[in-house]
Amino acid sequence: MSAGDHRIGRVRVLTGAQNGKYPAGNSLWIDGTDTRAVIDPSLSLQARGDDLAGRADLVLLSHAHEDHTAGLALFADASVHVHHEDLVGLSGIDGLMQIYGYGGELAAITRAWVLEQFAQVPRPDAKGFADGATFDLGGSTVRVFHTPGHTRGHCVFRIEPEGVLFLGDIELSSFGPYYGDAWSDLSDFERSIERVRGIDATAWVSFHHVGLIEDRSVFLEKLDRFAARIVEREEAMLDFLGEPRTLEQMIARRFVYPAHANLPFIDAVERRTLEQHLARLQQQGRVTAVEPDTYRTTL
Ligand SMILES: [Zn+2]
Repeated sequence: MSAGDHRIGRVRVLTGAQNGKYPAGNSLWIDGTDTRAVIDPSLSLQARGDDLAGRADLVLLSHAHEDHTAGLALFADASVHVHHEDLVGLSGIDGLMQIYGYGGELAAITRAWVLEQFAQVPRPDAKGFADGATFDLGGSTVRVFHTPGHTRGHCVFRIEPEGVLFLGDIELSSFGPYYGDAWSDLSDFERSIERVRGIDATAWVSFHHVGLIEDRSVFLEKLDRFAARIVEREEAMLDFLGEPRTLEQMIARRFVYPAHANLPFIDAVERRTLEQHLARLQQQGRVTAVEPDTYRTTL
């Protein structure tokens, strides 16, 4: 155990640096009587002084993003499993780039940055699972719930009988839901939030920031707040479209990232996020395209 870790039955929460702030994250370790498993091995596992390296038989991944696979190198002999829709992300850096969907110079910058920061280890031998799959570890079982939206294959895991629900990147942070990749989907994310709300559990662990929660009322309050960010973004868009605006003007205004943030992919994420909201708002008749690529709130 390291300082900051928590134990619930056979489950250990391996708290990441800065409470799992990106690029770190919070991982789970499960000491089954037959099988030892790690869920979402983060960058922080590399820096731990204990003897976890090489000791997992099984690695389960909530999805294939770089920060959730950063500790894979520590478990070269373990079998690796992820939802079949995210398998391509483990095939190598080209597969991961498909999930982001970036083009041109941004693709080159992102590729170099991921390779430098996260020590990507391709695992073409990884196996795909589907909704409802279970992994019996001896004494504890991990059950898979497919919760797409962040990526196509994003899943949450419930460890039984401990009742710990690992939320992956339904991460309850004040940033709000991230659905800015080519493989993200806003409507799927909303459905997944509702699915997670209905899953019976007694403890919840998010990969970033929030970490372990052991009170259902606190979990529901954070989940509501997290979901509300989607509505707040949409209301800010409707407000901004009180006058006709182009998509480029909307991207420059920013609805996801704060004005001071400076990362190479921000415009791409704002664009992908806006395209999904604009499509929905037009379908609902709340926004009209007054010219090609120029929008305003319907009068
Ligand atoms: Zn992610």
